[in-house]
Amino acid sequence: MAGRKGGKVRIYFARAGTSAETGKVEKTDAEWKKILSPEQYRVARKGGTERAFSAHCEPTTGHGFYECACCGTDLFSLKAKFESGTGWPSFFEPVSELNITLKPDKSGGKARTEALCARCGAHLGHVFDDGPPPTGKRYCMNCASLVFKPG
Ligand SMILES: [Zn+2]
Repeated sequence: MAGRKGGKVRIYFARAGTSAETGKVEKTDAEWKKILSPEQYRVARKGGTERAFSAHCEPTTGHGFYECACCGTDLFSLKAKFESGTGWPSFFEPVSELNITLKPDKSGGKARTEALCARCGAHLGHVFDDGPPPTGKRYCMNCASLVFKPG
């Protein structure tokens, strides 16, 4: 990450309904460990995957947004959540393409697309092309990387 310190990124703020240039969030591993649970750290900072059906990102009704567990960036609206049957929270679209960085991931012998928080680089999950309308995308996320904020 050398040379990226102090970088800027344009992020969409879902509640305000606007995007703005903001500073990237960069911390050392030791700093992340202090503010995250061991599971959040393993998944979000080390690219781990939680076991299917191991966590619950409910509620599935109501209104609100899922934020990045590491930096609080708005990532998904509850309205975009759907039941995929995979055991991981699944969404058909993010609040904005600005807030998610997509990266080719060839680990595990499969060509997949990794989804990362655009502001802090947290590993969120993977994106697949077998989602429902209107986007046809399935953002298959880890609960450990998300925090639900109602309202
Ligand atoms: Zn983040």
